[in-house]
Amino acid sequence: MRKSLMGALLGIVVGVAIAIIMTLVKGEETPANLAETAGLIEVEREAGNTNKVIWIGVDAACWKDLEPMLAAGELPNFNRLINDGYSCDLHAMRPTLSPRIWTTMSTGQTPSGHGILGFWLRDQGPVPVEDEEEIPYTSRNRLVPQVWHILGEQGLTTGDIAQWASWPAEGCNGYTVSERGATQRFNLSTNATKSKEGMTYPPSLVDEIAPMIRDPRDMTAEELARLTTMDHAEFLKIIDRLDRGEDVFFDKMVNLAIAYTSLLSYEEIHHYLYKKYEPDFAFVYFEAIDNVGHLFYRYAHPETWKGPDEITEADIRMFENVITEMYRIQDETLGRILDELDDDTYVILTSDHGMVPIFNPKKPLVSAGHNIKSPPDGIFAVYGPGVMELGYRPGANIEPEQITPTILWLMGFPIAQDMDGGVFERAFQPGWIIQHPITKIPSYDNVKTKQGPYRPAGLSPEEADEVMDPEFQKMLKALGYM
Ligand SMILES: [Zn+2]
Repeated sequence: MRKSLMGALLGIVVGVAIAIIMTLVKGEETPANLAETAGLIEVEREAGNTNKVIWIGVDAACWKDLEPMLAAGELPNFNRLINDGYSCDLHAMRPTLSPRIWTTMSTGQTPSGHGILGFWLRDQGPVPVEDEEEIPYTSRNRLVPQVWHILGEQGLTTGDIAQWASWPAEGCNGYTVSERGATQRFNLSTNATKSKEGMTYPPSLVDEIAPMIRDPRDMTAEELARLTTMDHAEFLKIIDRLDRGEDVFFDKMVNLAIAYTSLLSYEEIHHYLYKKYEPDFAFVYFEAIDNVGHLFYRYAHPETWKGPDEITEADIRMFENVITEMYRIQDETLGRILDELDDDTYVILTSDHGMVPIFNPKKPLVSAGHNIKSPPDGIFAVYGPGVMELGYRPGANIEPEQITPTILWLMGFPIAQDMDGGVFERAFQPGWIIQHPITKIPSYDNVKTKQGPYRPAGLSPEEADEVMDPEFQKMLKALGYM
């Protein structure tokens, strides 16, 4: 998104003109945060704004699953966010591929603007084309900064954990743990050959967080018993296949163990880094509900299964609670994260899509998915000062590209006109918006930075390709994304 000098100058002229027109129209004083200095726009934070924001990402969380559990009082921490704040549907994008949606949320740009179109470089359109090449998107493919890079460049401390396509970790004013921080760790059969390169920023964090990353084989009998009645010895025999180099990537128990241990690993890493850095803005992402949703849906909802193989009563008894229990475990995680926040911290909770039953003969082990013609919506909730405390508002959709502008505004920064989304105003009290006017600049490409700049750093594309991990690609396949 780097513009030519002419384009940059034009942008500034247009931006200043718009600011003047807005001032005349609104009858307000010139926005204090817009000033031109040496060809770059200087951005100032709203006076007195010390708001913090934490954004918690729960992949594939959906109302269809949440509502009965909320109604039964089972998810107290989801409930705190959803019913004490404002919540609604997050409009599902097509194609419904997680990296493109999470990156749309984190940049304020639609996929053609941010460049992360799916899991694989070949995910170029609504219907992925068959191709031998299976190269995942990496941070190298992203064309624009994420919201934490923008905030970091303005001097705020930021943290982000497990965002899609954030490997190799770019620079930031705080910490980044790429999505391969834990996933790579879980691909145990090839662990010895894996590189730590690019896994975190600063790079030294790799060793600091290593003790917090759980090995899926170490899941205890008590932990397993929460999720399934499968005997622990039998589980250990299955998970042992990881060591034998077998193709275990469609194995539901291996995926269950990875989902569970990655959830707890990222939670612990989050607590550790949140305490250490005390970031103004933090993002942390969890994949567990998506992971088990794909492979265990048929046992929770056997009546929806369209595949040829039968689901036995014994299997139903053993696995019917995996998904709901993973929601409970995720809820406990949320509770521990919320408990350590200051009162002035806004909490944003999103998923990227919901989950619906599917059957695809090419992926016979997968019983639910989301990359379909009419994808199920995700969830959005915001909690904090000035939020309309209306609880869940069905039908009031937020677009994924509105997340970043909303975060910028909450933290007292202008939104950018080259972003595709704007502030999600309907979640906030009108009086609050008048007190905290939304201001705009043409683009964050042409702003003076106080720190950084924090843009793609770390490895060269050639270096990134060298340490590219084929096991990680297999993992994505196992989850039914291919
Ligand atoms: Zn997803």
